[in-house]
Amino acid sequence: MRPWSALRAAALGLIWRGSRSHRIGGIDIRLDSSALPEEPKILTRMREALDALQEHQSRVLDRARRDLRGVLVIAGVPAPAAYVPFLNVCALDPKWICSAAEIELVAGALIHEATHARLWLSGIRYGSKVRGRVERACMRAECEFLASRQEDVLGFREALRKVIARMPDSDWSDEALRKRNFEHYRAAGVPGWLAKALSYLDVAA
Ligand SMILES: [Zn+2]
Repeated sequence: MRPWSALRAAALGLIWRGSRSHRIGGIDIRLDSSALPEEPKILTRMREALDALQEHQSRVLDRARRDLRGVLVIAGVPAPAAYVPFLNVCALDPKWICSAAEIELVAGALIHEATHARLWLSGIRYGSKVRGRVERACMRAECEFLASRQEDVLGFREALRKVIARMPDSDWSDEALRKRNFEHYRAAGVPGWLAKALSYLDVAA
């Protein structure tokens, strides 16, 4: 999760309301105009991801349906996936949905963000003091889904386990989070000044 500021969440709220809704696997999935060129592929991949969840962790999917308002597919997400607390939606990057090497990675990300939603709705906020614990809980949920698959998807499950075991809370300090967001925006081609402003806004939420 990379939190987004209330201001950006308000803008996302307008986008959410203006986007066409696709009901897939019981989840409201909406595509921003930035995702429309890839609409058929994105919808196919989302259907595959939700089918994988239904098959292997249907109870977790039931919970995600209850906890999340839906999924917004939109460019400019500060990571492949992010939870937007003020809208209670999971934002997914359209390019990443199309390029993720295995559909389980998309399904796992959805579970990760749905876990953020559950914690947020239960009153646990995302301040720097608890951020590491929150992220570990979300990664464990993602890992449990990946563990339900017979084969280790691209070695990702084991890599994630190692990250959970070793991840210090300092990895999720405000400063560390800003630095990662900045690097993500720059890698996506965002100009330096804007990447800096956005990464500050993200952590100011
Ligand atoms: Zn997270």
